[in-house]
Amino acid sequence: MQLVFATHNQNKVDEVKKLLPAHIHLISLVELGCTDEIPETAPTLEGNAKLKADYISQKYALPCFADDTGLLVDALNGAPGVFSARYAGQHKNADDNMNKLLAQLATKTNRRARFKTVIALNLTAVTQFFIGTVEGSITEEKKGTEGFGYDPIFKPLGFDSTFAELSTETKNRIGHRGKAMEQLLTYLNNAFLDK
Ligand code: IMP
Repeated sequence: MQLVFATHNQNKVDEVKKLLPAHIHLISLVELGCTDEIPETAPTLEGNAKLKADYISQKYALPCFADDTGLLVDALNGAPGVFSARYAGQHKNADDNMNKLLAQLATKTNRRARFKTVIALNLTAVTQFFIGTVEGSITEEKKGTEGFGYDPIFKPLGFDSTFAELSTETKNRIGHRGKAMEQLLTYLNNAFLDK
């Protein structure tokens, strides 16, 4: 079965491809030849995930899922949250986003945070949602070179390393997107059990 992952982020496609069984052929937007700027104007992660999945499944008439992820920091009342990508401005620069977050937390002692991923799947007439979270804390400096986005400053609970110091396999196993993907895969496997 062909399934589109509606993201321009090749890191995410690579992460997710490692989790999929062979009978599901994941198609990226690059493979579709889609370079459109997909709207992300909803006020929630759920709303944005659905906007992205709807846009691609309507345009290409293919089953599709999309994810939206936010980093929610307790001392900042859940910010940057749905604005994580553009936290330091429209240019969506990961280094600038991390620098802004570290500056905002400079005087805070509570550094608790969590990543939350929402996946919206358009396979039937009704959009299905799958949610994954990982608890952790924001470090005082960037560490590691793996991953992307806020990974160098996020230390998952129970680990002494940031996501950027852990392997993709470990991040997938304990991380927000891996957990949401696990639920998506269980759903897909059940949906295609008799096919
Ligand atoms: P998106 O909505 O998934 O595109 O992500 C929103 C923002 O969160 C972007 O700045 C991403 O770089 C960041 N982000 C998403 N997933 C992760 C992750 O797994 N690790 C670190 N940052 C992430």
